Amino acid sequence: MPHYDYRCLDCRKRSVIYQSYADYGVQPVHCPHCGSANLERRIGRVRLARSEDSRLDELSDPSEWGDFDEEDPRSMARMMRKMGSELGEDLPDEFDEVVDRLEAGESPEDIEGSMPDLGGGEGEDLDF
Ligand SMILES: [Zn+2]
Repeated sequence: MPHYDYRCLDCRKRSVIYQSYADYGVQPVHCPHCGSANLERRIGRVRLARSEDSRLDELSDPSEWGDFDEEDPRSMARMMRKMGSELGEDLPDEFDEVVDRLEAGESPEDIEGSMPDLGGGEGEDLDF
């Protein structure tokens, strides 16, 4: 059965909903998380379900972050570790150093100021 990718506009969770072609656009769909009918179809995303694009998309969705608190360096460090392991790539040494220093309670501004190499490199900008 074909499936369609939706994002709930109320609870902001993503869901994949299975519907036959006959039902699609005819039968109302509801969010499996909160029951809202206020769903937005995410066109073209289903095929990318296991792609890096989709994983990054999930990571950039604050509802997936749990107790993430951007004011708390340790919380940010946890987030970065999660992101690093999700990407599954060889991350530069600087990444570990930044995370370690965040966990030690240093502010991102201090770390950035002491590491002039950060912020270069198009396309690998960890923009927090
Ligand atoms: Zn919902």
